[in-house]
Amino acid sequence: MNKEIRQRADKVIASTYNRFPVVLTHGKGCNLYDADGKRYIDFLAGIAVCNLGHAHPRVCEALKKQADILFHVSNLFYTMPQVELAEKLIQHSFADRVFFCNSGAEANEACIKLARKFFHDKGESNRFRIVSMKQSFHGRTMGTLSATGQDKIRVGFEPVLGGFDFVPFNDIQAVRNAITPDTCAVMLEPVQGEGGVRCPEADYLRSVREICDEAGILLIFDEIQTGIGRTGKWFAYEHSGVKPDIMSLAKALGNGLPIGAMLATERTAKAFTPGAHASTFGGTPLITAAALEVLKVIEEENIVESCRRTGGYFREKLFLLKEKYSIIRDVRGIGLLLGMELTIPGKPIVDQCLENGFIINCIQDHVLRFVPPLIISREEIDLLVTCLDTILGSIQMKSARSF
Ligand SMILES: *Cc1c(COP(=O)(O)O)cnc(C)c1O
Repeated sequence: MNKEIRQRADKVIASTYNRFPVVLTHGKGCNLYDADGKRYIDFLAGIAVCNLGHAHPRVCEALKKQADILFHVSNLFYTMPQVELAEKLIQHSFADRVFFCNSGAEANEACIKLARKFFHDKGESNRFRIVSMKQSFHGRTMGTLSATGQDKIRVGFEPVLGGFDFVPFNDIQAVRNAITPDTCAVMLEPVQGEGGVRCPEADYLRSVREICDEAGILLIFDEIQTGIGRTGKWFAYEHSGVKPDIMSLAKALGNGLPIGAMLATERTAKAFTPGAHASTFGGTPLITAAALEVLKVIEEENIVESCRRTGGYFREKLFLLKEKYSIIRDVRGIGLLLGMELTIPGKPIVDQCLENGFIINCIQDHVLRFVPPLIISREEIDLLVTCLDTILGSIQMKSARSF
């Protein structure tokens, strides 16, 4: 059955993705099942999206309940779930105002537009340039791919949107040097996700904040991957104590439903006046009712704290593997956003994990990324680590024999 569906898909779906040869049909918690009935333990969570796992009963119930009364009315009207969701996001963050949209890229588009509009409204339209990071990832729209510091994402789509200046992540002096009288903001991910799970060095974010304040420019954090508990805090910026002026969210906010959000301080958000920006589907009652329930479950079940503890346990287990296998170059990350850098390509290991019933993925060719639902158990982690141990052991043995 898997094979027949795959053949049909490969004829009609745009081939923008290299897909695993698996047709998934349903899930429950951290388990996914394919069309042949095989079970997988999910350490990818739809790419850091399904923090509460699959088919969470409370989220399903909230969605069904709202579906029966009202899907959509446009943002020409007020709706209750949208207000409540915004209030909850503000309660947990630095922000005073929220703009809702449908995806991560759209949230970052809103960040870029707000930063430019903020200075335009102050009579400084020359200030439109944004300092962004090499190896960053901000999305695939023309605006956000222009903000993305990876050539492979821009090739074929030039000319890109102008006004982005790239500096190496974790290099304070480079940020300082890149700021000109035309710079309106510095934009970065507090932990680079797609770029290879790269964490900021101690004081890096604080120094960037200081530089922005001295220059009188805005600080934008892309927390699309790191936000909503993933790193063991509600938002990754909390680890550093540094607050941005603008922040984007998306992935885990709807536990799999399409929603993005741009959050900002009052002073900054003022530049978004009526007509300045818009989204037809942004913040519909259907999706915000479900997202509100997601946040309530995270609060009531202390999911953020348990992520911090489980993440620490997982990280330790990965470090034990690193001591054992020289093909592991580095283990890094925070909370349940973890990466294992290898000296060899990661794809064969990902494929072997899949065969053994574990879903993980590989970024930047040689970094295995682990972003399971935040409700993953220690037992499930142990099962994956045992599987990795076996796979890495057989690889290391083969390479030893070839010498
Ligand atoms: C996934 C991601 C995006 C893009 O989100 P989409 O919903 O795919 O548009 C942007 N920034 C970061 C940090 C991401 O991880």
